[in-house]
Amino acid sequence: MGRFDYLIIGGGMTADAAARGIRREDAKGTIGIVGAEAHPPYNRPPLTKGLWKDEPLDGIWRKTQEVDAELMLGCSVVSVDPKAKRVTDDRGTDHGYGALLLATGGTPRRLKDAPEGVVYFRTVDDYRKVRGLADRGTGFVVVGGGFIGSEIAAALRMQDRDVTMLVKEEGLGARVFPPDLSRWLAEYYREKGVTVRLGKGVDRVESRDGKYRVRSGKDEPVSADAVVAGLGIEPNVNLARQAGLVVSDGVEVDQQLRTTSPEIYAAGDVANFPSSVLGRRMRVEHEDNANTMGELAGRNMAGAGRRYDHLPMFYSDLFDLGYEAVGDVSARHQTVVDWKEEFREGVIYYLEAGRVRGVLLWNTWGQVDAARALIAEPGPFRPEQLEGRLPAG
Ligand SMILES: Cc1cc2nc3c(=O)[nH]c(=O)nc-3n(C[C@H](O)[C@H](O)[C@H](O)COP(=O)(O)OP(=O)(O)OC[C@H]3O[C@@H](n4cnc5c(N)ncnc54)[C@H](O)[C@@H]3O)c2cc1C
Repeated sequence: MGRFDYLIIGGGMTADAAARGIRREDAKGTIGIVGAEAHPPYNRPPLTKGLWKDEPLDGIWRKTQEVDAELMLGCSVVSVDPKAKRVTDDRGTDHGYGALLLATGGTPRRLKDAPEGVVYFRTVDDYRKVRGLADRGTGFVVVGGGFIGSEIAAALRMQDRDVTMLVKEEGLGARVFPPDLSRWLAEYYREKGVTVRLGKGVDRVESRDGKYRVRSGKDEPVSADAVVAGLGIEPNVNLARQAGLVVSDGVEVDQQLRTTSPEIYAAGDVANFPSSVLGRRMRVEHEDNANTMGELAGRNMAGAGRRYDHLPMFYSDLFDLGYEAVGDVSARHQTVVDWKEEFREGVIYYLEAGRVRGVLLWNTWGQVDAARALIAEPGPFRPEQLEGRLPAG
């Protein structure tokens, strides 16, 4: 059995950030990374953005090898024994550890009973597959109008492909955007040539002779050469459960990113952490969180003992539109909308009990830190106090 001072399960962005965090504190300790994908850690955001605008694929790799970590790729950990401080992988090999990080991320939700070939878009292999299809001139059905569905639909349409979106909600990004913006965004996609069908959950996908037929209610089925689905992810918590750690929506960690077992940490998409700013637990599926939390988890594994007080941001590009968001931007909250130009440029404040819990900066740049400061303010705010608070544009 090999033993690492620091062992990381998962080969994603969080894993890479953690290895770098460890190295900030400990130049010599041995680091092992076990990753189920065949590839070394890479950035996922370009898979739906830059790579479709001709950024080179070479640019996505995070060069984790630089930090002198041993990468065990195409290999999954199947069990964790916290008492023995040992994990077992799917090749039957045991690896001991001094400190362990769960950076197992999430698995895309799937369509029930759908045939092989539907792409649940998450990995560089998914990108290569969809890119290959797009380069051959294929027509696509995109299922889901959230983050991934909206981005991949825009990317494919920008390649002049035929794209039909089937969206269960009554607009795009409906879990985040207020209803009028969400409906307007669907209209904007239509103007860009995407066929958007709202209020359409998928009942069944059939495949015949290399073509797909997607059925939704009593509508005529939609035919396509390829189906790409963006239905969100489920955090990969099985190992944590098996190891007896506390799991709710994700693996629960404390402010120093420790799980309920000593020497086991969790970070990134899989981790459920207490946000001191929001005063509640949250789980975040975004890049800034993966990078910042991953790095801090690594530092803490090496003894730094720091608190994760960061309020993560995220961003997205949708054709010519873009936004950055901070905090809890749930469409369930009361919103105060401050447009400089309606639906084109503005700021949306998300309130709960009079406190700003999140801010969406719609085509508005350079205001993320100001938004964080506003969210930290105790309030309460009246809507008119927020108008003009953060300058749009
Ligand atoms: C296409 C795409 C575009 C995105 N764009 C943006 C964006 O624009 N802005 C933004 O803020 N965020 C974006 N995100 C989200 C961001 O990329 C994620 O938050 C981030 O990748 C999470 O990293 P992670 O390492 O925690 O988890 P993951 O990326 O899920 O990585 C976890 C890794 O662990 C592996 N693994 C799981 N279980 C095991 C096991 N038992 N043994 C070994 N390995 C295991 C998995 O195979 C996977 O490779 C995007 C995500 C995707 C998929």
